[in-house]
Amino acid sequence: MSSPARIELEIKRLALRHTWTTTMSSSDFRDTVRLRYIRDGVTGYGEGAPISRYGESAASALQALEALTPWLATADPWRFDPLLARARILLGPHQNAALAAVDLALFDWLGKQLNLPLHRYFGLNPATAPLTSFSLGIDTLECTRQKTLEADLYPILKIKVGLDSDEETITTVRSLTAKPIRVDANEGWTDPEEAIRKIHWLEALGVELIEQPMPAHMLAETRYVRSRVHLPIFADEACTRAASLPQLRESYDGINVKLDKSGGVLEAYRWIALARSLELKVMLGCMVSSSCSTTAAAHLAPLVDFCDLDGHLLIANDPFRGVQVEQGHLILPPGPGLGIQPSEHAIEPSLFKKP
Ligand code: MG
Repeated sequence: MSSPARIELEIKRLALRHTWTTTMSSSDFRDTVRLRYIRDGVTGYGEGAPISRYGESAASALQALEALTPWLATADPWRFDPLLARARILLGPHQNAALAAVDLALFDWLGKQLNLPLHRYFGLNPATAPLTSFSLGIDTLECTRQKTLEADLYPILKIKVGLDSDEETITTVRSLTAKPIRVDANEGWTDPEEAIRKIHWLEALGVELIEQPMPAHMLAETRYVRSRVHLPIFADEACTRAASLPQLRESYDGINVKLDKSGGVLEAYRWIALARSLELKVMLGCMVSSSCSTTAAAHLAPLVDFCDLDGHLLIANDPFRGVQVEQGHLILPPGPGLGIQPSEHAIEPSLFKKP
């Protein structure tokens, strides 16, 4: 057996191009936790974006990963299935983003060792991936107008709503473009009749689908809404573990899978397979994150119906170069593993760094 891995951890502050506002929060930056898995002269890169909605923070993810490090350094990476199952238990609850950082770094390392891009490991054809949407956060009407024009290169838009300005926002975007629009309410509507009225209105404007219109716990109310509208309804905040998928199928038409919710690539693959067996549609989404996370997700994109892998397009200091987005097409980098390379922003000082 080779010598133990060296594990490097840090919190990276990603600067947002525009202040990012949803029903949950408003911020100019996002802190993600990054992990480098270095063994036998090969480095695997991983990243997780902890989200307060799920009881996570970058500080707590870093702490959990530090505690995991002595065990992870000596665990056998070639037996990644039991390794990741054990890591999930050792990290404890509310650490799916931390687990994603471990999973991504391992798959990047393994792919490099095997000289195999991640999509080839899963037997997928990247040319069959759906186009990705580009997201617009909640903003003033003037900024929404500006951002819609700036998003000219992206053929599908995903618009965040859920505050009082919903209808003005969508009307503004629709007045500027005829391209497909998806809408994400981030649990913003609590009255079923209001949700039905708004969804009918969105449908009339040619909106393609609506994501998480009501709070995650309002399953029965969402089921009622679904029975009265035609637009497909997708679960995001309501979909946080594989075991919850069977009970979502009455209330939702599909689920939004994110590596930071599932705990990485391996579990995301299982979520997608389970969703398929339950005849749920699948969207592959992401948090605000670097190209590390969105590139890893892009390798799985041929498995899904809808893509929303724009996290790295929303930031100004991406520490990696990876998947490129050209007219909505996801263009994977050619290398093995995730295929990502550190960018000029990789060497910026971290908020916290430990060897
Ligand atoms: Mg969402």
